[in-house]
Amino acid sequence: MFELITLPYAPDALAPVISAETIAYHHGKHLQTYVNNLNVAIAGTPFDGKSLEEIVCTSEGGIFNNAGQILNHNMYFLQFHGPRENNKPIGRIAEMINGQFGDFETFKQEFAAKGASLFGSGWVWLALDKKEDKLVITQEGNAGNPVTKGLKPVLTFDVWEHAYYIDYRNARPAYMNAMWQIINWDEVNERIR
Ligand code: MN
Repeated sequence: MFELITLPYAPDALAPVISAETIAYHHGKHLQTYVNNLNVAIAGTPFDGKSLEEIVCTSEGGIFNNAGQILNHNMYFLQFHGPRENNKPIGRIAEMINGQFGDFETFKQEFAAKGASLFGSGWVWLALDKKEDKLVITQEGNAGNPVTKGLKPVLTFDVWEHAYYIDYRNARPAYMNAMWQIINWDEVNERIR
């Protein structure tokens, strides 16, 4: 049985970047529904008792979609803190971004371009290619996660409309631009270890 994650911040802690109303729907309703659906779908199957990553890497169809959405949303909601001016990468992730993309501004432009050109619903990811010891930005449709490509996901922007429609209406680029204020780079550094 999977459970809805508890958020490590108050529902209004991310406002105005992400409002309490968006949190109420996105975490309280959308994510809860994926959790409920997956628990029903895996009951009595060999997936019962497996980790989300194991399920995502070995399933398809409805089980993949619901497990993927839970894994993706858990990573998404656990990577935030309250809005901070001039919030920037620090430590190892800052070194890697600057070394590979030149600077944070250039990185953000590439990340934004991947979000703008993702047609329909999906996710933009920053992932670590451990074999090459380098970062990659990937676009994944629907419930996709770069873990299925052997990459280690470290940061993600949900670009399904339900992530931004209440606060930004149809303006995906404005949502993506504002999101940098709430990224917890300490958490990202934990994930690249
Ligand atoms: Mn979502």
